[in-house]
Amino acid sequence: MTPGIKPLVAGNWKMNGLNSAMDELEVMRDQFKPGLSAKIDMLICLPFTMLAKAGELTSRSAVKIGAQNCHKEIKGAHTGDISIEMIADCGAEAVIVGHSERRTDHGESNAQICEKAQSVLHWGHMAVICIGESDEQRKQGATLDVLKKQMTESVPGSADNGEIVIAYEPIWAIGTGLTPTVSDVEEAHQFMRSYLIERFGEAGNAIRLLYGGSVKPSNAAELMGINNVDGALIGGASLKADDFLGICATYQ
Ligand code: PEP
Repeated sequence: MTPGIKPLVAGNWKMNGLNSAMDELEVMRDQFKPGLSAKIDMLICLPFTMLAKAGELTSRSAVKIGAQNCHKEIKGAHTGDISIEMIADCGAEAVIVGHSERRTDHGESNAQICEKAQSVLHWGHMAVICIGESDEQRKQGATLDVLKKQMTESVPGSADNGEIVIAYEPIWAIGTGLTPTVSDVEEAHQFMRSYLIERFGEAGNAIRLLYGGSVKPSNAAELMGINNVDGALIGGASLKADDFLGICATYQ
């Protein structure tokens, strides 16, 4: 936690989910009661195909919805791509950019991720920018160098009209059931905070820093209790309302 920052618990459904089966999202919406929504923000990042319906289902609730990628341009000759304007048109308020699966599967570079984030921020939305080291980089002791390079090159120089959120996701912890030690997460998040203060001044103190990688109800309290961990980005455990709400309940 960081004093004065409202935590954000964000789900990343990845390439999972159908419009014909929105019941888990409806349970999350219905169980996100005012007592909890006063304490934390909840964000569910869905496949593009689900955004319009999810936007309708959550429109009068405290649940925010988001996408998992976007193009840097607003419109034009970019076959198969989706822009922030289209995402916002569905009622979504946030976009995950630079997830390691996109960096790996689509070869996205820090520079491209920065441009996507800029587009989201210019639109006045939240860009959840993912960073994190590979297992090999961790073993080489290069974690903090990797984080610094990724933040320098993929975090825009200004939040523009929107909100920058940074998610620290060690690649080796995503979907594996493995998590870093508490002191490793604390060191990484303290490093990120110091970097952001150095770069943005006092505004760096207000940027939400999420931890992501095998967060589940059983380890959430420990991970969310670490200094400068202002919430979580959750993959697998965000697909089931019980698990996701169990993680949120850490903040009850
Ligand atoms: C993720 O993909 O962002 C993630 C953190 O996945 P998981 O929670 O399944 O490790």
